[in-house]
Amino acid sequence: MLEAAETPVGAAPWECPNILQMQCDRAWVEIDLKALADNVQQIKRLLSPQTALMAVVKADAYGHGACIVAKTVLGAGASWLGVATVPEGIELREAGIEAPVLILGAVNTPNQIRAIAHWKLQPTLCTPQQALIFAETLGKQEQKLPVHLKLDTGMSRLGTPWQNAAEFVQLVHSLPNLQIASIYSHLATADDPDPSCMRQQQERFQEAIRFLLSLDTGYSTSVYAKGMNSPRLHFANSAATLTDPALHYDMVRVGLALYGLYPAAHLKPAIDLKPALQVKARVTQVKTIAAGSGVSYGYKFIASQDMRLAVVGIGYADGIPRNLSNKMKVLIRGQMVPQVGAITMDQLMLDVSGIPDVQTGEVVTVLGQDGDMEIRADDWAAALGTISWEILCGFKHRLPRVAIG
Ligand SMILES: *Cc1c(COP(=O)(O)O)cnc(C)c1O
Repeated sequence: MLEAAETPVGAAPWECPNILQMQCDRAWVEIDLKALADNVQQIKRLLSPQTALMAVVKADAYGHGACIVAKTVLGAGASWLGVATVPEGIELREAGIEAPVLILGAVNTPNQIRAIAHWKLQPTLCTPQQALIFAETLGKQEQKLPVHLKLDTGMSRLGTPWQNAAEFVQLVHSLPNLQIASIYSHLATADDPDPSCMRQQQERFQEAIRFLLSLDTGYSTSVYAKGMNSPRLHFANSAATLTDPALHYDMVRVGLALYGLYPAAHLKPAIDLKPALQVKARVTQVKTIAAGSGVSYGYKFIASQDMRLAVVGIGYADGIPRNLSNKMKVLIRGQMVPQVGAITMDQLMLDVSGIPDVQTGEVVTVLGQDGDMEIRADDWAAALGTISWEILCGFKHRLPRVAIG
């Protein structure tokens, strides 16, 4: 991660001290740390003081860079981190991050289990069999390993069916080297304006908890106890966090909203978020082409009149979806500029007839804000029939991440 001041604006390659700076001559991703911190504060205003905020930083923090995001959001008031895999957790620990880290994915192999214990990560247990593998692999331990039990209340992905929660909890409770740190579930339709499926999942979660409260597991009576250093129940992703405090329980697991995007349009009034990620690239050549000229592979665009054309050094190998060819716009000098022809692996072309004096080396905002104009990941997602989560995760490591703010 480079500091913004080190970005070699206009620097010739031979003046660049390293490869990373040379990459920034072409195209890069800017991460606004202030926007991240502000988003954390906005989210925290929705939470009661007893509710912890877990920042979900899986998949390299949705493409933003896991370590820099983790440090920023922990500094701004998040207290837990969520990742998908053990290596993602280790990356945070190797960067010196000591906050509790929950592995949201399933872990079944002894090597990974030993790594979890070694790096003081906290696993999700999804089935009784998995709990037994953990207990056997860990053997005699001085300290119990904190584990988080996942219930399937309707997502039909990871977790024990909610009807079997009691047996599951009792089994894990009986294993001497494991300690239940939390029980949680995940919502399938929290971003749907129609809340009925989400409410059904909530009722199932409540039903499982009510039953657990009536059991003698040691866990039960303290479920709602205050002053516990471990969150006991959690359920909400970004959409549920923005929807209803009754879904917050002891902790919320927030990903997308942290990065400044709304899980659904109807949730915009809930909170004021700012996208933390922008994608920028430079113009590498400008020329005029004659009316009738075909542009790029397959001539998917033919100039209907003489056209001022700019070539930009970013393409699908950087994560610009090729299916946006002839559909996307970018920003130059605060103006919308249409992209033309097929997007290629490393480059794309723009119709800059509206700004004919565009220069080689000028910065193009591919995603983000320039003046009053903004191009959002949601715009791309709508054009492609996908979701903004996928857009954010799509930017490749060839684009260096540059921290600003
Ligand atoms: C990814 C994930 C989240 C975060 O979801 P967002 O919609 O990005 O807030 C929360 N919980 C679990 C289990 C997840 O896998």
